[in-house]
Amino acid sequence: MTDDLPGFKREIFDAQVAVFETGDAGEAAYVIESGCVEVLVGAQDAQRRVAVLAEGAMFGEVALLDHQPRTATVRTLVPTRLVRIDRTHVEELLQRSDPVIQYLLRLLLERFRNSSGRSVGDEDSAAHAKTAQAHDPQDLHAAAVRTLSLAHDLSNAIDSDQLELFYQPIIALPAQTLSGFEALVRWHHPSMGLISPLEFIPLAEKTGLIHRIGQWVLHRAIGDWETLKSSLGPQVEDGFVAVNLSAPELCNINIVDIVRSALSAQNMPTQALRIELTETTVIANMGTVSHILEQLRAMGVGIALDDFGTGYAGLDYLQQLPFSCLKIDMRFVMQMHSSQRSYQIIKSALELSRRLELKSIAEGVEDACTASLLAQMGCAYGQGFHFARPMPLRDVASWAASFGNPGPG
Ligand code: C2E
Ligand code: CA
Ligand code: CA
Repeated sequence: MTDDLPGFKREIFDAQVAVFETGDAGEAAYVIESGCVEVLVGAQDAQRRVAVLAEGAMFGEVALLDHQPRTATVRTLVPTRLVRIDRTHVEELLQRSDPVIQYLLRLLLERFRNSSGRSVGDEDSAAHAKTAQAHDPQDLHAAAVRTLSLAHDLSNAIDSDQLELFYQPIIALPAQTLSGFEALVRWHHPSMGLISPLEFIPLAEKTGLIHRIGQWVLHRAIGDWETLKSSLGPQVEDGFVAVNLSAPELCNINIVDIVRSALSAQNMPTQALRIELTETTVIANMGTVSHILEQLRAMGVGIALDDFGTGYAGLDYLQQLPFSCLKIDMRFVMQMHSSQRSYQIIKSALELSRRLELKSIAEGVEDACTASLLAQMGCAYGQGFHFARPMPLRDVASWAASFGNPGPG
């Protein structure tokens, strides 16, 4: 039917028809849109009715999280219209949720099953063992415990001085001069070691801690600017430090004031700060974002579109938002020698940035060959392990000296 949502289907049954029977594979749950059904348990010749369900009720929902066979028969009493919710659809949604939610749901399901009288000795036990393995409850449990304790510990990380900014050099092509840095946050967890921002930033976004972390990053990067600048060498006039902002930070109505006062407190020129935002962040928050970005850009702050090409979006937002720089995602850069498509995508992205008068940066430059091909193609900057990995501030000056930018003194 045309008005079905993906994963949800309408099914219409006459009266006295089984929707499913005991022992059937459980693949879906149902909500009664109109009509009513009876729930029967027991062997075929001795079935007894345990419930009658009417409009709005849901049944068969255990099947949503589990591959168990049905433990009851459900039969319509009158012509009945049902909305069918497929397990595969719910599983897809669940897999995209965080491990704590996944774990809690599975735990609740387990409790529900035990309390509703299923015993390990019944005929489903073999199937159940398989299911347990497929969901890997131990992995899920470990992931949930890790997430919970990281979320808890993260709230102390700033006050306990466990966060650090690493800086990754950004190199102008083809001259190969050091032009700027991207600030990348690191968390030194006291017992779990170094935790990747890929793990704790999403957690901070969910718990709201991102605002404190984001401000800490901004202030630290701006505070480090004097040191970073002295590594750039006197010939570099448009040096910069780039800071990543995630969606909740960008939607903070005070963000413009926060940036302005942080810059003026350190006497840092606005042009030397660059904000990096991903396509996904801007697209999901177009209304709020455009007003904030206009103000930041008017102040002189650079705005880079990060991970370009990965957001599955049209290009409409490029004409609406005041970007000054486009960062081509590393997945294209890393494959540009092996994949003709990646090469062509990079070529088009460079052409696009030229036409829109945006600076272009290629991320993930891991070898000299890639760097020189990008330079030939007209890419303005490169960033990647070929030049340098992200490093602590204390290592920047000596790295810059060895790279050929000895600084003023
Ligand atoms: P990103 O902004 O795309 O940052 C680039 C990531 O690629 C960094 O990982 C960097 O270490 C890595 N990288 C750089 N060059 C190469 C290369 O040649 N090869 C490979 N394989 N990787 C390279 P990192 O530092 O782990 O950061 C991951 C992501 O975490 C960042 O992706 C960014 O989205 C987020 N992130 C990092 N710091 C912050 C922060 O302060 N605030 C926010 N909101 N997000 C941050
Ligand atoms: Ca970035
Ligand atoms: Ca990136």
